[in-house]
Amino acid sequence: MSVDSIKLQTPYLSLDDEFYRLSEPIPLEEPYLVSFSADAAKLIDLDEKSCKDKKFIDLLNGTFLPEGSKPFSMCYAGHQFGHFNPWLGDGRAINLGSTHGWNLQTKGSGDTYYARTADGRSALRSSIREYLMSEAMHHLGIPTTRALGIIGSKTQIIRSNMEKASIVMRMSESWVRFGTFEYFYYMGEHDKLEELCDYVIAESYPHLNDEEDKYYKMFCVILEKTASLVASWQAIGFCHGVMNTDNMSIAGLTIDYGPYAMLDDFNYNYVCNNSDRVGRYSYGEQPNISYWNITKFSKTLSKIVSPERMQKKLDDYGDFIFPNAYVDVMRKKLGLYVDLESDRELVEKLVVALHESYVDYTLFFRTLSRYSGDRMPIYDIVMEPVVIDNWLILYDERLSLETIAQADRQELMLKSNPKYILKNFMLQEAIELAQKGDFSMVETLLYVAEHPYDELPEYEHFTGDTPEEHKNIGLSCSS
Ligand code: AMP
Ligand code: MG
Repeated sequence: MSVDSIKLQTPYLSLDDEFYRLSEPIPLEEPYLVSFSADAAKLIDLDEKSCKDKKFIDLLNGTFLPEGSKPFSMCYAGHQFGHFNPWLGDGRAINLGSTHGWNLQTKGSGDTYYARTADGRSALRSSIREYLMSEAMHHLGIPTTRALGIIGSKTQIIRSNMEKASIVMRMSESWVRFGTFEYFYYMGEHDKLEELCDYVIAESYPHLNDEEDKYYKMFCVILEKTASLVASWQAIGFCHGVMNTDNMSIAGLTIDYGPYAMLDDFNYNYVCNNSDRVGRYSYGEQPNISYWNITKFSKTLSKIVSPERMQKKLDDYGDFIFPNAYVDVMRKKLGLYVDLESDRELVEKLVVALHESYVDYTLFFRTLSRYSGDRMPIYDIVMEPVVIDNWLILYDERLSLETIAQADRQELMLKSNPKYILKNFMLQEAIELAQKGDFSMVETLLYVAEHPYDELPEYEHFTGDTPEEHKNIGLSCSS
């Protein structure tokens, strides 16, 4: 299908008009294509060829609107760094409508009703980061919004320096956030909350539609999806950086990529966001924060779902729902196929050992995927081998309880432990080149991101230890 043939629907506009405001994209000057994801294009049946047409640029720039499109921005509130802010909403994102179950949204299309005093724009730097990482997360098997493409332009915007403005087109099965519920709860508009629940069920959880107790069940499924999402972040070493409730998806997706990072050397307390002075959103705090965020979400449902029942589910979250979700993913990373209760302790001991060993998190698991009892390859990558050595004694004992053949285990582990992840220093190099008009490294990183578990000899330099000067750096929130 070509860009011209895209037909969109806008079911969100059937909600009360307090849920959104109609928006008009404000085009960038002299737009040009930076990159597109052929893999994301397939999801909406868009030909790769038509992504290279001028019409594709027009689509992202808002100068071409597909049939049925009625651009709008969504209203939401949210707890930012623990403090409630009732006035958020899509300040720079404009929804064009949905097709094939994907809601298309341009980010950086100019100020909207919800922009307050901000410019509604996105720096090329932050669009590239969002674009590459959302595609990378998808190929790592982690639930996420997707990104169809990016355009750059001549338009300049003010951040800490003057920067180039750009637009990234994002796609999601849902853009509803915990903060969308918070807006109507704090406004005291409980009838709108029911309307929102019904919308969420229709969009994301249609199997609940005819169920009794459907709002409670919706709460449970959102809680469980959040547990498995954050468990997968912990297991892959992803730090979101801004886990405010407005950045929490009701569909259990990773959304709003800002000052995120993949771990370099394993540091449980690593804080990737420079504005996060107390480490509220450190790597190690992410599970606790996910619990805190669901607690806030549960409050918004308290007039339509029994608070006691939700509290019981929240207690289970900490006691076993999150820990089980996390241990399940870690079992895969460790090549364990028999479920044993003691695995939780084995994983906890590994986390302590990794923290004390100064070892690259991704490299450790990739190396462990070829483990056959010979510890030399592991000693080669850790600074402090003694603690890891003690843990390997436990791991050897644990492996002896498995029935799977060693070669099969190694093969499966190589499919669970990526060789390639996008570290911030790589993204920064691609951004600096792109700012000079060279998009080749964006393309290279997209390719690498699409093949995280493969051996790509020509891209060997993107693996291994992070150069010392780039390890565990903090990033600015400005985007
Ligand atoms: P974020 O940190 O990107 O999740 O954004 C937090 C809130 O600020 C959301 O309501 C955004 O829409 C809004 N926002 C961030 N940057 C801009 C911008 N440049 N223009 C307008 N709104 C923005
Ligand atoms: Mg956000």
